[in-house]
Amino acid sequence: DAAINRIAAGEVVERPASAVKELVENAIDAGATRIEVAYADGGKTLIRVSDDGCGIEGADLPLALSRHATSKIDGSDLLDIHTFGFRGEALPSLGAVGRLTITSRAEGDAAQLRVAGGEMDPVKPAALSRGTVVELRDLFYATPARLKFLRTDRAEAQAITDVVKRLAMAEPHIGFTLRDVSGGGEGRVTFQCPPENGDLFDALHARLSTILGRDFAENALPIDALREGFRLTGYAALPTYSRGAAVAQFLFVNGRPVRDKLLYGALRGAYADFLSRDRHPAAALFVTCDPKLVDVNVHPAKSEVRFREPGLVRGLIVSSLRHALAEAGH
Ligand code: ADP
Ligand code: MG
Repeated sequence: DAAINRIAAGEVVERPASAVKELVENAIDAGATRIEVAYADGGKTLIRVSDDGCGIEGADLPLALSRHATSKIDGSDLLDIHTFGFRGEALPSLGAVGRLTITSRAEGDAAQLRVAGGEMDPVKPAALSRGTVVELRDLFYATPARLKFLRTDRAEAQAITDVVKRLAMAEPHIGFTLRDVSGGGEGRVTFQCPPENGDLFDALHARLSTILGRDFAENALPIDALREGFRLTGYAALPTYSRGAAVAQFLFVNGRPVRDKLLYGALRGAYADFLSRDRHPAAALFVTCDPKLVDVNVHPAKSEVRFREPGLVRGLIVSSLRHALAEAGH
């Protein structure tokens, strides 16, 4: 069983940033209003995600760490998913590839469970006022071959930052703090955004300002378009707010950050008349549709999607962005 966990774990956890993604998604699913991510040495020696969400009862901790145990869906309709998690794979995978400690408090007393190499210790009492703290140390210590594939601490830290920013953009009502604790102690805050109030559109605007800068937010074009069951909302930049890299492009499908060729291509297509091929317009755009019209279940890393009608989605993006650009005088 430990071997099966290790093999499956490779699918879910490729690098520190994928562990961060799974843990932050769990915190979001738990209803957290503030999430803190700490990492040391690019996440290779330590990743710690703390939240103020609903917590896990001590008695349920071993279950949370069992393969395919999820509290989120009953498995009857994998196409209709409203939470980030649904596979029940992340925690057991993390427990198979690193030294994992979960400390959590729900209604009752706080409890703690440690797992290393897939071996679980007994649950023991702990001290925690609320929420959950998941600590993952020494990722891939048991699989040196995988360790070798990791990039420099700096590159891995950059990937962690990117994941946290994408999830922060997806959830503007939640406050996020990212801390580099290499060398111990309180460490250094490397990214922070407060929880934003107001409706999603206003909150998103405030978050855009924190992540992409006030200048961008003040000049961004609001987008809100509907076509045959697909809705496109968010903000797109004037062509002058383009970057040499795609780092300022935030795309979401049903609330999930995605890096999808079709969507990137549609965004590029909309700006084709205004930008050279090596420039990328900054944008934060949300495609929302009936979950049955899109498959987010393509890969455990869940960053690619498959639309039933890709042409329709592309058309919606290109035409509504061109329309907004034309209205702004382009
Ligand atoms: P999934 O997210 O697909 O359900 P995970 O392995 O990521 O699977 O988590 C297993 C279960 O552990 C979740 O279904 C949830 O009940 C519980 N859990 C994990 N992280 C948290 C958290 N931060 N707060 C509360 N419950 C959590
Ligand atoms: Mg999960």
